[in-house]
Amino acid sequence: MSNVRLLCSGIEATVSAIMQSKLLPTSEQPVVAIIGGGVSGAGVAYHLARANGGDAPLIVVFEPRAELGRGLAYDTDDPAHRINVPAAKMSLQPDDQGEFQAWIEARDAVACDPQARRPDGLLFPRRRLFGDYVASLLKPLLEDGSVRHCRAAVTHVERRDGRWSIRDDKGDVMQADIVAIATSHPPPAAPGRLATRLAGHPRFVADTTKPGALEVIRPQDRVLVIGNGLTAADVIASLAERGHHGPVTAISRRGLRSRGHAPVPQPLFGDFLSDAARSAVSLLAGIRAAIHAAEAQGISWHGVIDQVRAQGHDLWQALPVAERCRLVRHLRPYWDVHRFRIAPQVEAVLDEAIAAGRLEILAGSVAEARIEGELVVCSLQPRYRRQSLQQSYDAVVVTTGPAHGGILETQPWLAALAASGYLSLDLTGLGLACTEHSEAIGASRKAEPSLLISGPLARGTFGELMGLPQVTEHAFFVATEIAAKLRLARANTQRG
Ligand SMILES: Cc1cc2nc3c(=O)[nH]c(=O)nc-3n(C[C@H](O)[C@H](O)[C@H](O)COP(=O)(O)OP(=O)(O)OC[C@H]3O[C@@H](n4cnc5c(N)ncnc54)[C@H](O)[C@@H]3O)c2cc1C
Repeated sequence: MSNVRLLCSGIEATVSAIMQSKLLPTSEQPVVAIIGGGVSGAGVAYHLARANGGDAPLIVVFEPRAELGRGLAYDTDDPAHRINVPAAKMSLQPDDQGEFQAWIEARDAVACDPQARRPDGLLFPRRRLFGDYVASLLKPLLEDGSVRHCRAAVTHVERRDGRWSIRDDKGDVMQADIVAIATSHPPPAAPGRLATRLAGHPRFVADTTKPGALEVIRPQDRVLVIGNGLTAADVIASLAERGHHGPVTAISRRGLRSRGHAPVPQPLFGDFLSDAARSAVSLLAGIRAAIHAAEAQGISWHGVIDQVRAQGHDLWQALPVAERCRLVRHLRPYWDVHRFRIAPQVEAVLDEAIAAGRLEILAGSVAEARIEGELVVCSLQPRYRRQSLQQSYDAVVVTTGPAHGGILETQPWLAALAASGYLSLDLTGLGLACTEHSEAIGASRKAEPSLLISGPLARGTFGELMGLPQVTEHAFFVATEIAAKLRLARANTQRG
């Protein structure tokens, strides 16, 4: 039993069953633990399992959700929640962009969802379907034991005797040689002051990802939506789907609304790398100039922004850290609304609501809120006005969520890893500091080769790393890095 490294009884097979199976972990079989089984974690597991052939490590993914590959984005049953990038660009294979689309066509998976296919032929199916696709790729690997799903949340990670000791919320402990952190999005939470003031109100929705969160809202309710990004758009579309017809106000600091897709696909336009910008200001000037040049050729801004996104990694590398911070501070809201585009079906719902006077978009902030009887009375501070507005609402929905800059406070084990010198915040405030090899960097600026960061939490180093195409590429990259580390360790062991 001493050479059995797997101590996690939460994994479906028991330790003794594993010992009897051909997948018996021996002292030579390294263990890779992936914490978080959304697209990032599942993607790392998938590519790692395929990268190693016969010499596979034991790959364990910790994920409390029922299935791997869904995560926050694709674990939704709400029919109004659609992918916001055409299916043809979403895939778990970095070298086969069309796999998801082909998967859909092969099983006619949108037959009962006629709205999924747009007049131009592009597919924007429900988000759950993408989760089905990723889960279907993982299924054979789970069945043959190449990947194991430990259905639990990790609560503690510490370095002990040259390995990682991982405890989960079922009380089980597992030892691993390499850990990849892929927990990405912290659970949504209302800003502290609002949460305290409105906690007792029956129609205060602080976490829209909870199943049935919007069911408390009645058809005629006056609703205040705090935030105006893609989650706000999801909420407004979901309410409409459920027959809500009351007025909705969406408030965000700048009142910016996520832009839609171009009516027809646009070619990539611009070159931001030959003479890469070294400051936020020159990058912005370059993008503006490219948009003018593109328009002169009949190409919309979409082609330029998509090119910035495609060249995003190298572009980001060329910027000094202070300029990256400047970019995040001043330009991020504008970047986000152009880069995260709204699904056409959702855009149509919002346009219709605005045209009918049911949806108002406000630039400003919520200065004060209190419960008065059944109502929530808010003092709203419009961005360019001195006078605040007093408004009453029947329901308040928060769609802002905590920033990734606060990630270390969202889970005690992350904070503990930071305290013990293995993790630190990235200087741009976008997530966790890591090297170009995605190895975690602690407060002493020392990299830890056996602790990797996968997915959006590595954005501070890799730049644009939020949309699915980049998340997939990064998962593949992290899997390749882990496979190379394991190969090297094996070669060293054989030599020694
Ligand atoms: C609502 C939403 C919709 C999106 N829609 C699109 C889209 O249509 N197109 C597109 O290109 N991009 C989209 N994105 C962006 C992108 O696809 C996602 O950000 C991407 O799926 C990120 O996946 P992830 O695995 O890195 O993170 P997450 O989805 O956040 O997954 C992290 C997982 O970690 C688990 N976890 C957290 N803590 C622990 C713990 N302690 N122990 C074990 N597990 C833990 C969580 O349960 C979760 O499942 C969307 C993002 C969101 C949030």
